[in-house]
Amino acid sequence: MSRTNTVLITASILWLAHLGVVATLGIVPPGPFLSDFVQLIMGGLMIFACIQASRRSEGLARSFWRLTAASYILWWMGQGTSTYTDLFVTPASVDWVANLFFSFWFAPLALAMFLDPDNEAGSLDSLIALDFVQAILVCVAAYLYFFYLPKAGGKLGNSVWTPYLVTYAFVAGAFLVRAGVTRSRVARMLFGRLGLLLALSIFVDVLYYYGPGKNLKTGAWFDVIWSIALVLPIAVAAAWKQPEPASPYAEAPAREKKIHTEIFHLFYPLLVLSMSLQIARERLALAAAVVFFSFVCSSARLLVTQHRLVQTQDALRREASRDGLTGLWNRKAILDILERELLRAERQGETVGVIMADVDHFKSVNDSRGHVAGDLVLRIISSEVASVVRPYDSVGRYGGEEFFIVAPNCGPAETWELAERIRASVANCSVVTGGSSVSVSLSLGITTGNSAADAEKLLQAADTALYQAKNAGRNRVEPNSARASTTAQAPQIAARSKFWL
Ligand code: GH3
Ligand code: MG
Ligand code: MG
Repeated sequence: MSRTNTVLITASILWLAHLGVVATLGIVPPGPFLSDFVQLIMGGLMIFACIQASRRSEGLARSFWRLTAASYILWWMGQGTSTYTDLFVTPASVDWVANLFFSFWFAPLALAMFLDPDNEAGSLDSLIALDFVQAILVCVAAYLYFFYLPKAGGKLGNSVWTPYLVTYAFVAGAFLVRAGVTRSRVARMLFGRLGLLLALSIFVDVLYYYGPGKNLKTGAWFDVIWSIALVLPIAVAAAWKQPEPASPYAEAPAREKKIHTEIFHLFYPLLVLSMSLQIARERLALAAAVVFFSFVCSSARLLVTQHRLVQTQDALRREASRDGLTGLWNRKAILDILERELLRAERQGETVGVIMADVDHFKSVNDSRGHVAGDLVLRIISSEVASVVRPYDSVGRYGGEEFFIVAPNCGPAETWELAERIRASVANCSVVTGGSSVSVSLSLGITTGNSAADAEKLLQAADTALYQAKNAGRNRVEPNSARASTTAQAPQIAARSKFWL
């Protein structure tokens, strides 16, 4: 027999046993104790079913079932305390403890509303932790509101039934709305079921407070209805099956619309505020304290969200201006830098050096070693170039195996010197892949300018110079004007970099 069936059959037997106790003993001792005790065992079965369901789940569903288990553990402690009071004469303080558990049992479950289906790990990050504190504050406010204010000896006062039911209906409605707006199938299934179970539980409460259950004592027939409200979630937990993940070939589901789900974070501060207004009538300082902590929580949430937003913006900006393979500036970014440096040079009466470099015979590296090795060679060349320029020079990837360097405050001689340093250091790189060495070299075209209006012309001039360097035999620097070639006079740099792929 499967574990699911075992749980379902055990729940049914417990319910029948409850029916038997209520029918035979009713409110005559030990009827009330046995009635509470059977419900206590049912609570234990619910905790077991939730833990099993979390083991069968992943992502959001796993967190959901863990939170549900945590909630029912709190409920179980409340029910345990109540059952104890059925057996022994206890001081009023024990009633307060039971009420405390019954007020707070819902906190972990309420937290489920904030689980993010897009966060597949379903992990508890700092925002969820803040939401948890907010949910606890709701419970504090609820405890004060429903049990402390009525001064009814720890029992729910008549006057608070209506707000209690309204609050409860509000929570159930929020879960149903959350199920309606989510795009995740798992979230829809879980939140929808929880919303319906809560709605049913409210219906039972209404029957108890206003309908046929009015003024009935523990052990009376109405207890059987309570236990139905326990058997149903047990059945839902036992029958839970994690849906198959969507096929990787299917279109990726759209992410949740954040603005929809963010609304739910306003829900708890609002509840705290509305209950505190009432508490303030009798205990101003207490109400102020609850509202203050709720405000601190909301503000911290806002700050964390803002911080993450700024971080994401920074990351996006970085990503948008960097080349994915080499980490150098991408084409658009390096052209922006050129324009900015030319403007600065214009203002300060300086000259900007521009270098266009192209890897020699790179196609043959790809052809002989494959594209993956080609990519690695490109990365090595990129980091070599970036390491020999001055800190205030900018290196960009202009195209496939072409690099573009902007060197502020460099005249023709300094630019030539820089280009020569780059050429020599790349030519002295020894890249070993597949057991044999690949020789790499760059051809470089250089030019200089001092006016932002000339940016286009500078690019063309550097490009022309580069082709002159190619035509003149490669592995050399060529200025855009007719100058002597440079390899012959180039200072020899000893081979110093060796790379194995
Ligand atoms: P030349 O000395 O005349 O510049 O010869 P070349 O072989 O370097 O020039 P060509 O323009 O014929 O070929 C450039 C090659 O660079 C072709 C292309 O496959 C390769 N390439 C461009 N971008 C990448 C890249 O991101 N990764 C790899 N592995 N290869 C690339
Ligand atoms: Mg090339
Ligand atoms: Mg090229």
